Amino acid sequence: MVDKQLQLGEDDAFLALGNAWKHALEVLEEQVNKPSFESWIKTARPLAVEGNLVRIATTSSFARHWLESKHIGLIKEILETDMGMKLKVRVELIEGDEPVILTDKLPKKPKPQSKSDDEPISLPLNSQYNFETFVVGPTNRLAHACAMAIAESPGRTYNPLFVYGGAGLGKTHLMHAVGQAAMANFPGMKVAYVSGEAFTYHYISSLREHRTADFRRKYRSIDLWLVDDIQFLVGKERTEEEFFHTYNAIYEMGKQIVLTSDRAPKDLNLDTRLLSRFECGMIADVAPPDLETRMAILETKAEFEHIALSNDVILYIAKLITSNVRRLESALIQLHAYASLMKTSVTPTLAEEVLSKHFGEQAAPVIDAQKVQLEVAKKFNVDLSDLKGKCRSADIVMPRQIAMYLIRELTDCSLPSIGKAFGGRDHTTVIHSCKKIEEKLENDKSFAALLKELERQIRDTKV
Ligand code: ADP
Ligand code: MG
Repeated sequence: MVDKQLQLGEDDAFLALGNAWKHALEVLEEQVNKPSFESWIKTARPLAVEGNLVRIATTSSFARHWLESKHIGLIKEILETDMGMKLKVRVELIEGDEPVILTDKLPKKPKPQSKSDDEPISLPLNSQYNFETFVVGPTNRLAHACAMAIAESPGRTYNPLFVYGGAGLGKTHLMHAVGQAAMANFPGMKVAYVSGEAFTYHYISSLREHRTADFRRKYRSIDLWLVDDIQFLVGKERTEEEFFHTYNAIYEMGKQIVLTSDRAPKDLNLDTRLLSRFECGMIADVAPPDLETRMAILETKAEFEHIALSNDVILYIAKLITSNVRRLESALIQLHAYASLMKTSVTPTLAEEVLSKHFGEQAAPVIDAQKVQLEVAKKFNVDLSDLKGKCRSADIVMPRQIAMYLIRELTDCSLPSIGKAFGGRDHTTVIHSCKKIEEKLENDKSFAALLKELERQIRDTKV
């Protein structure tokens, strides 16, 4: 096969991948049953072509596993035929349904002026994330009420609104809901939804391509600015500075800003000027839902997906999974897919059989900090106590940073709790370690491969 990549620009290669991926989806849709296709295949998307490596993003580890174990051969075959080159296909887990990374892989060469002018800054909003599908309970009531008020009168009530809380608790859902409701209420309103990550990449590429004026002009014309996961900005000095100016410009024009983060503002370690601005507005947290809310979420989701579930099953799942709504949803979908594959109905016994293995809080192959530490220690042949301890020798420091980074990536652990798992270190040390590893990952392909391999080992190791 000819190495077509040699003739294709990055732009063209990505376009070719897009078309080939569409083709692969058509073929798979014929071959895979509907729930599985809808849940795990259709939600995946091409991320980038790097040389002969094609990266496909999935939003859950189950989807990734499903694609890798069952369909990778066929996908590879179709992509290779359509793109006319030998390929390696890698399925990756990208949390949170955010197509952010796409911008990371935009071509590095300067683009024609007209193109960058037209490029929207907003990431797409997911129409399923609206107020109707959001279940309100005691642990998210305040955030929900503020979000609703903002959609009714942006810039008037709570500005900014800062929503924080752990992973999978509905922050992104609420953001998308605000954006869509505001657009419905005020046609023509300029809504921009970005993540901290996307903002960073926009800014960096505007610097690289000498388009900062264009960048600023676009950001300053926004009426409603939704910035998701701003913890990503922490420690990125220039981006944080630019964010500060953008923030001020938008705020001073009386426009609405909504922010989310995995931590409260005071724990973010951001510039104090930013912190004091966030504290001027409304701060609302979201916490894991109580049992009744979890049941209501499951009912809503089942109804939306046309899945019939008895109360017993709903209760079983709601009791099994307590801390993350995303996991609650994937349990439901997994169970449904299993039942339709086996052509059987969903009973509590089946639910227990299918879910207790993967989702049960004790029996689960859930990755925790200790498991990551163990595997990293094994891989680098260092003592677990050294890894967790204070030793500063280089052959310990790097594995320790890797372990911190992987715990951050693979578990729901908060930064302070990661610090604790390493002999009571401060969360800023954890942030620093993660940053170091991120930098190394960007610049060193073989290091990235090593980490991927390690990540796979951690996922595959049974507890
Ligand atoms: P976060 O941004 O806090 O990590 P998301 O907003 O991505 O979480 O939510 C994860 C999943 O859980 C999404 O599919 C979302 O629709 C769902 N979800 C979270 N909270 C709720 C809720 N209160 N009602 C309905 N669905 C919810
Ligand atoms: Mg989110």
